[in-house]
Amino acid sequence: MSEQNKITKAIRIQTELTNEMEHSTPMFLTSSFQFDNAEDMRAAFADESDDNIYSRFSNPSVQEFIDKMCALEGAESGYATASGMSAVFGSFMALMKQGDHLLSCNAIFGSTHTVISKYLPKFGIAYSYVPSNATEQEWEAAIQPNTKMIYVESPTNPGLDILDLAMIGKLCKKHHIIFNVDNCFATPINQTPISLGADIVIHSATKWLDGQGRVLGGVVVGKKELIKEIYLFCRSTGPALSPFNAWVLSKSLETLDVRMERHASNALFIAEQLQQHDKISFLKYPFLATHPQHTIAIKQMKNGGGIVCFELKGGLESGRKFLDSLEMLSLTANLGDTRSIASHPASTTHAKLTEAERQAVNITPGLIRISVGLEYKQDILNDILQALEKC
Ligand SMILES: *Cc1c(COP(=O)(O)O)cnc(C)c1O
Repeated sequence: MSEQNKITKAIRIQTELTNEMEHSTPMFLTSSFQFDNAEDMRAAFADESDDNIYSRFSNPSVQEFIDKMCALEGAESGYATASGMSAVFGSFMALMKQGDHLLSCNAIFGSTHTVISKYLPKFGIAYSYVPSNATEQEWEAAIQPNTKMIYVESPTNPGLDILDLAMIGKLCKKHHIIFNVDNCFATPINQTPISLGADIVIHSATKWLDGQGRVLGGVVVGKKELIKEIYLFCRSTGPALSPFNAWVLSKSLETLDVRMERHASNALFIAEQLQQHDKISFLKYPFLATHPQHTIAIKQMKNGGGIVCFELKGGLESGRKFLDSLEMLSLTANLGDTRSIASHPASTTHAKLTEAERQAVNITPGLIRISVGLEYKQDILNDILQALEKC
C-alpha cells in the first residue's frame, strides 16, 4: 500500500485485531498483563521484548492514541499522560537538571507559568521570559550558556499571540537547545511544530483533541531519545493516561480534521462579524489581517483556529455583564468543545498572576475569550450580539 495521509492514519491506526473480529477499537481496561511463563516475564522486565507489563508503563489503548498523535504530528515516538500539565511537567523534569536554564515567553498557560516560576526554581532550574513579540535578536540575546530548553505556545492562551516557530527552531538548532512546543491551541491539523524545528511537542488532549469536554489527558511526542527520557521519568513517577480516557481520545482523533475545519470556519465568521462592533475596542483572530502577527500566522498555520478574543470597551464590569447576559454560550473553564464557551481570563485562569504580570501578557480587565463550538454559526453570533447589547 502507498504511504497514507496522516488524516487517514488518525482514522485507521488501531490495536491488533482480536479473535472477536471487532470493527471499532476495543478498550483495554486492565492495570496489568499476564505472561505464559517465567521466561517471558523475565524477558519483558529485562526489556528484551515489547510485551506490556503494567499500565503505568504501557497499555494498548494508550499506545493506539500515541501512535495516532505521532502520525498527526510527524513524530518518531510519544508518551501519553493523565493531563496536559503532567505532560508539561514530565518534559521539564526528565530533560533538565539543577543548574539548567529554561527560556520561555511570558504569554503562557497559567498553570505552566506556576510550574516554571514556583516549582522549577525549587529544583535549581532557573528561568527567564521574553515578550511574545520579541524579535530574533531579542530571543538570541536571552539565551544563556546554560539554557537547556526553549518552551513556547503558539497561539498563546488566552491572548492569541503568534510566535514564529521556524525562527525559534533555527535558534535552538544553532545553540543546541531543546525546542519544546505546546501545540494545544492549533492542534496538528492546523500546525506541525516538528516540521518547523521543534524537538518535542506537548498537548493538553483535554481540549480540541477530545473536543467534547469529556476527559482529561495529555501527550508528549517527538525525538525518540528525548521521549525515552520522558517515558522513564513518567513510568517511575506515575502520571500515566487512563486506558478509558485513551480510548475516548483515540476515537476523537478520527473526527479531529473535520471538527477543526468547522471550528475554524465558525470562528472566522464570528471574528469578521464582530470586529467593527461598537462595544468592542479590539478583536483578535490570527487569520484577520488586523492581528499583529498575521503574516506569521498565515505562514505557519493552515487556518486561524477556534478561539476568538476581544476586549470590551467597558472593562471589568462590562465583562461580567457580558458573561451574565449570555443565554446559550457556556461559562466553564474548558475550551475546545463542540459547545461554544465564553471566559474571562482576568478573574479565572490568570487570576493568580499579579496585575503587572497580566498587563505584560495583554490580559486586560475586559478581555473575553470565546472558544467557538460546532453549533450553527448564526446562533453563536446571535447569542454574543444580544449579550453585547446588554453591556
Ligand atoms: C489546558 C492547557 C494546558 C493544561 O492541560 P490540562 O489537560 O488542563 O492539564 C496546557 N497548555 C495549554 C495551552 C492549555 O490550554
